[in-house]
Amino acid sequence: MTGSYPSGRRSIIPDPVIVCVDCGGRAHLLTSWSDEDPPAAGDLAVYRCADCLDRWDLVLEDPTED
Ligand SMILES: [Zn+2]
Repeated sequence: MTGSYPSGRRSIIPDPVIVCVDCGGRAHLLTSWSDEDPPAAGDLAVYRCADCLDRWDLVLEDPTED
């Protein structure tokens, strides 16, 4: 394991590619995060579909929360 994060912020790795709900194509992650401000629950991850160019906004969720 490398890196340490302030307590209360858990690093989340968003999928670099998701499946477009509309056309089934590949939607690529547009959002990037800095090392000082890694992705965390509640952050917005913006995807753009390569096929239909639709934009998808996903809110990251803490994978340890049910
Ligand atoms: Zn699409």
